[in-house]
Amino acid sequence: MITMDDIIRDGHPTLRKVAEKVALPPSEEDKNILASLVQYLLHSQDAKIAEKYGLRPGVGLAAPQINVSKRMIAVHAHDEKEKLHSYALFNPRIVSHSVERTYLTSGEGCLSVDENIPGYVPRYARITVKGFDENGAEVKLRLKGFLAIVFQHEIDHLNGIMFYDHIDKQHPLKPIENAIPLER
Ligand SMILES: [Zn+2]
Repeated sequence: MITMDDIIRDGHPTLRKVAEKVALPPSEEDKNILASLVQYLLHSQDAKIAEKYGLRPGVGLAAPQINVSKRMIAVHAHDEKEKLHSYALFNPRIVSHSVERTYLTSGEGCLSVDENIPGYVPRYARITVKGFDENGAEVKLRLKGFLAIVFQHEIDHLNGIMFYDHIDKQHPLKPIENAIPLER
């Protein structure tokens, strides 16, 4: 199982690499890596297990964060209506997005960043993502609000981008134009 010891932190070169595409159909090894990402999120959101192993709770994790430079992400999060969404994808990509943007009023956090970095992170309010599920079947997802934010954060990891790269350094809390603020 993945613990915080397996999660690489800001400054590690793998976090700045563009990750490689996963060959499909997925190998058993790649399927296992993807499953381990999902398992981390489940464990981290279980108070007892998280406490036992010292896991920081997370709603998303990308393979580069465990030092595997391949295009895989897991997301396990509730939307604004408390509906649970759980996804594990190979080679996810954003195929279209809204003009309208959104951002979390509390800013974003990351399992690979130990300190709190305040600032608004502009994201698209709605995105369509295509990718391949754990069995290699193609999936197409329409996402909005918090889920859209989490997916953009994780897909950024596959391209060597960290959330704070998007923060306006001079004015980190300047309201973002044409954006819906999201409280969480
Ligand atoms: Zn992150």
